[in-house]
Amino acid sequence: MANDSCRLCGTSEARLVAVVDGCQYVRCAGCGVERMASYPSADQIEKFYDSGYMTKQFNNLGHHLHFTKEYRETYFAEKSLTFADLRMDLSKLSGKKLLDVGCANGQFMEYTSKFGMEAIGIDISEEMVNAGKEAGLNCHVKDLFEMEGEFDMLTYWDVIEHVSNPRQVLEKTRALLAPGGEVVLQTPCTGMVSELFGDKWLYYLPVQHLHLFSQESLFKLLSDTGFSVVSWVRFGSCNPKGSIPDVNKRAMDTIAKRMGIGDTIVVRARRTDN
Ligand SMILES: [Zn+2]
Repeated sequence: MANDSCRLCGTSEARLVAVVDGCQYVRCAGCGVERMASYPSADQIEKFYDSGYMTKQFNNLGHHLHFTKEYRETYFAEKSLTFADLRMDLSKLSGKKLLDVGCANGQFMEYTSKFGMEAIGIDISEEMVNAGKEAGLNCHVKDLFEMEGEFDMLTYWDVIEHVSNPRQVLEKTRALLAPGGEVVLQTPCTGMVSELFGDKWLYYLPVQHLHLFSQESLFKLLSDTGFSVVSWVRFGSCNPKGSIPDVNKRAMDTIAKRMGIGDTIVVRARRTDN
């Protein structure tokens, strides 16, 4: 059955890895991605996102604080650290065209504005996009597949795990990039941390998270869709702030990052031209 085979590689053979709220995640024997099995229907997905999801996320993630100085500084500091880890100097991208896919309320666009990038953001959430527009950002309610034009960089912050077909998204990404253009993509990363936490891993989120990549499966998909990885960083140890004492969290986060086993990955990949 089509709904039971992997949307990335077509393989139906898989091993159960987690059960959350009665929903199963399996690891694909073909490509190694962990995916919901079965995939939720389009109706289920629509119902989920319609039921106040955006507002919940907005509040849970502290995005309502976004326009306060304190929150912006924390977010900007995190992004600066990530780009330093990726050995990427954004000031060299002044005047370049950026498309931030799944821009939410535009916080990343706001971050890049200080480097002089020409940023456009798209999101399917009208609520989020309106917040961005109010802040004077160039964001739009639009689907990636409606986009045309040529960009120097596309970014996906915690987006690819939500989309129904990541392969098609990366193919479209490549088509929108200028020769030598780059994609920067952040997503949860399966591996030692997810295996240790099992069902309790933070990122097994049925209906929202359809595909959870291992580093290997993500790199393979990038390579299959015409990208070569330039640099990457992994960080995070699953423990949300406040769940364990700060000193322990800092220690675990440090170990995860230094060993390259963190459960979030950010990859920078360049369009290959053949
Ligand atoms: Zn697969």
